[in-house]
Amino acid sequence: MAQMSEPSAWCLIDRDRISRNLELALGLLPQGVRFCAVLKADAYGHGIAQVVPLLREQGVPCIGITSNAEARAVRAAGFTGTMIRLRAATPQEIKGALKDGVEEQVGSLATARQLRAIHGAAKTISGLHLALNADGMSRDGLEIATKAGQQECLQILDEIGQRIVGVCTHFPANDPEPLQESAALFTQQVSWVCDNSQLERSALLSHAGSTLTLLSGVPVGTDMYRCGAILYGFLKPELGFLPTMELQARVVQVGDYPAGSSVGYDRDSRLEADRRLACISIGYAGGYGRIAQDRGAVLIRDQLAPVLGKVSMNTIVADVSDIAAAQIGDVATVFGGSGPQAIGPDRATAQFGTILPDLFSDWGMRNPRIYRDHKGC
Ligand SMILES: *Cc1c(COP(=O)(O)O)cnc(C)c1O
Repeated sequence: MAQMSEPSAWCLIDRDRISRNLELALGLLPQGVRFCAVLKADAYGHGIAQVVPLLREQGVPCIGITSNAEARAVRAAGFTGTMIRLRAATPQEIKGALKDGVEEQVGSLATARQLRAIHGAAKTISGLHLALNADGMSRDGLEIATKAGQQECLQILDEIGQRIVGVCTHFPANDPEPLQESAALFTQQVSWVCDNSQLERSALLSHAGSTLTLLSGVPVGTDMYRCGAILYGFLKPELGFLPTMELQARVVQVGDYPAGSSVGYDRDSRLEADRRLACISIGYAGGYGRIAQDRGAVLIRDQLAPVLGKVSMNTIVADVSDIAAAQIGDVATVFGGSGPQAIGPDRATAQFGTILPDLFSDWGMRNPRIYRDHKGC
């Protein structure tokens, strides 16, 4: 680090852990079921350019993205396999993604018509995926539980039926019971689509199921799971999955402040005794959310230092009175670290009041990323 251009805060990313998590995930797949690695939000903040080569090493056949920039980055990293956009797209996006061979979702007649027009004029066209709402995301899948929805589905199939290579849905809940219900409904709806069109079930890829679905162990009968989170070790440490990102900053000042001093904006916090405080080079602009006020802590020299007062834009203040050796230049770990006080998923989600994919994608996109392999698994 010392020789680098010294960012205020940075994400340390363990490539070998991503590879290991992927290997574990592939090992959980039911026999014959395919894997689509979801790389939206720049690979959940980890950087598409760095993650794609790891996926290629293990022969991942399919990648899911949302934006055209992500699609470009996936191709630029040398991936030649199937790439599916995991949301509805505007005509401009669809046109812009033709050259990268993005397979689009279709969940409405309007999109089907746009796709037909665009594909009619295009030299290269890719397969399409019929997106169904089985059962209950109500985001961009077509609801065919109603007569009107079935009608629309038939019209979509009329427009672009011969281009459909897949049928998909996204399960909203992954507890065993709702999952079984969703899976049964999806299977039934895929059959309905095939019964009412020229499409052959055996020629179609059905895909649904995400990280939580795969980890649930409940069989859902689809041909492919689309998983993102599983690569980054948010869940199931007992199965060997390990977090792939650490967030760090530095102590930039240590000072002694007397009892009664207020700390930070609006004097929200007051010292009850003389304390030694450290200023740390990360604030909300680096993803240390203001919500962590009064419940945050950072790790300095393997010890937790409580964060005091309101979070500033580029700094926080931590109480290092009990960390005698704390000094300017020390690393302050926001997430990760070693030793019994390491800040893991549970503490981070409690501090920041949100889920780890939210934190990782935020941290990874706000801060420079430093990649390493040495950590071992
Ligand atoms: C994000 C997403 C996934 C992957 O979800 P994880 O929980 O990260 O595995 C799969 N499918 C769709 C449609 C998604 O938007």
